[in-house]
Amino acid sequence: MMPLTLNRPHPMPVFYDTHAHLDYPDYANDLPDVIARAEAAGILKIISIGTNLISSERAVRLAEKFPNVFAAIGWHPAEAPKAPADLRPALRELARHPKVVAIGEIGLDYHHLPSEKPEFTAADDARYKQKQADIFQQQLEVAAETGLNCIIHQRDAFDDTLAQLKPFAGRIRGVFHCFGESVERLKQVLEIGSLVSFTGILTFKNGRNVRDTLAATPLDQFMLETDCPYLAPVPYRGQRCEPAYVKEISEVAAQVKNCSLEELSAATCKTAQEFFPKLRNQQPL
Ligand SMILES: [Zn+2]
Ligand SMILES: [Zn+2]
Repeated sequence: MMPLTLNRPHPMPVFYDTHAHLDYPDYANDLPDVIARAEAAGILKIISIGTNLISSERAVRLAEKFPNVFAAIGWHPAEAPKAPADLRPALRELARHPKVVAIGEIGLDYHHLPSEKPEFTAADDARYKQKQADIFQQQLEVAAETGLNCIIHQRDAFDDTLAQLKPFAGRIRGVFHCFGESVERLKQVLEIGSLVSFTGILTFKNGRNVRDTLAATPLDQFMLETDCPYLAPVPYRGQRCEPAYVKEISEVAAQVKNCSLEELSAATCKTAQEFFPKLRNQQPL
């Protein structure tokens, strides 16, 4: 792997993968190769996202091992039932790490509810949603205390997620990742000072709505991500996704925004550096 130096101009437009799950077992056998391919494709920084405390700790270890990997720490709403009563002490501890750039992914996810199974009732759904809201609240508090921004995951829960984030606006910002909502909802996100990020869905034949939303998003208000191992862009759709594929996502994004790759690179990297100030902590530890 070629060492990177920041003062040498890069021969191609560079991008960041602001949302990857590098700690997943999908990469257990070839992670150094995955990271080398990202560098070769010009994807110079990768944020590995935590989904519970163990996954968050693994993300931190990866950030310690690979100079261009950074970590976000958090507990995913779909895993809420397994969360401890109080997540805050463990998160505060992890948040101090120089390469922990954000709290995430956190939020609300109502896509699957307990009552889908016959043994559960509406009361179980209410308890599940309450537990999600409780841990989301705790993590927003840690974000506000530590001055870290948040990576927001929401699915079928946009209004509740926005309502819970709103009281924190002005202290912390969120990036609504894998954004697939309407232009109207995009405006609601931007109004509270938050941002959005877009995945490989931009390249899908049926991704028209997402492209329309990107077209309406100001050039300095969004970032790019893979959400790998999920959502591989065309022409890799259906395969394991990896950070190098931000390249394919960026090509479609530049077409949608009607700008050059260089302009898209400058805008999205600047947005990410401002949103995640600790991304500047490039050196290995
Ligand atoms: Zn997510
Ligand atoms: Zn994710």
